[in-house]
Amino acid sequence: VFDVLVVGGGPAGAAAAVYAARKGIRTGVASERFGGQVLDTMSIENFISVPHTEGPRLAAQLEAHVREYEVDIMNLQRATALTQDADGVTTIQLESGASVRGRTVVLATGARWRQMGVPGEDEYRNKGVAYCPHCDGPLFKGKRVAVIGGGNSGVEAAIDLAGIVSHVTLIEFDGKLRADEVLQRKLRSLSNVRIITSAQTTEVLGDGKRVNGLVYRDRVGGDSHRVELEGVFVQIGLLPNTEWLKGSIELSPRGEIVVDAAGRTSLPGVFAAGDATTVPYKQIVIAMGEGAKASLSAFDHLIRSSSP
Ligand code: FAD
Repeated sequence: VFDVLVVGGGPAGAAAAVYAARKGIRTGVASERFGGQVLDTMSIENFISVPHTEGPRLAAQLEAHVREYEVDIMNLQRATALTQDADGVTTIQLESGASVRGRTVVLATGARWRQMGVPGEDEYRNKGVAYCPHCDGPLFKGKRVAVIGGGNSGVEAAIDLAGIVSHVTLIEFDGKLRADEVLQRKLRSLSNVRIITSAQTTEVLGDGKRVNGLVYRDRVGGDSHRVELEGVFVQIGLLPNTEWLKGSIELSPRGEIVVDAAGRTSLPGVFAAGDATTVPYKQIVIAMGEGAKASLSAFDHLIRSSSP
């Protein structure tokens, strides 16, 4: 039985593992893919104190830092269920058929951006197709971009980007935007934003190296239109990797693990951190801080619990 069992090996899980191991307690990390979303990232310029790095490099450094300590790293392990015994020990069932147990558990399974699933999206990922305006917005300074999605995150992204880029085209599938009225009003007040509703993005275009346009179909008239641009920000939802936790701990309506300010979940001894949780703003620096916090909360739980 681990003292702290971390599920997920992204920035949140790595931070949780380092903080637990430094207490000299039995620590394990079970993850599908160590590094998490960082592995899919090219340039990272907002990890404070590191002005520039690249995703695969940071992922390797996360793993190296964890390996400095006696942490049992279980890679390529997908968790499928969580149960808790009467004595408070938590069992994580793995897809392989095995299971691992922890006196405390830190859930850090992260999230994934919902994709449009159109030709060109994958091909030009990190070559003009982006998912995070806080991360990649400045890379498009003075250029033309589209934001796909007219919910709160899409409209927030469009307002944010309008201050950096030369022009923003916001494309919404529905007949009207779904964002809060106050955000819509702000968006409509901006002179370098065009809003297109009832529009289905059907293709991302490029020259083989970078994005140079997109095609959308007018869902009313049925005809297709081309927009010339250099970037496409896809904002149609961030899906937490928590499907496997349904019914065992409290999730928000969006599927995020509900945590309090100390990273506690609805189950005693089970903590959570990072993009999988209700904590706002999904960023590396935030996930790491939350992972450290959840781990310290787990340690606090251990020293207060009666069993030795
Ligand atoms: P994740 O990084 O998602 O890690 C989750 C971990 O859990 C992985 O190891 C995964 O394999 C594992 N896992 C998932 N489900 C299971 C399961 N059932 N069982 C076992 N393991 C599981 N943020 C920035 O701050 N700056 C940037 O420049 C930046 N750029 C980005 C660019 C892209 C393309 C993307 C996709 C994201 C970017 N982000 C950036 C966001 C940042 O990567 C995330 O906020 C951060 O990685 C979240 O960390 P996490 O540990 O919570 O989750």
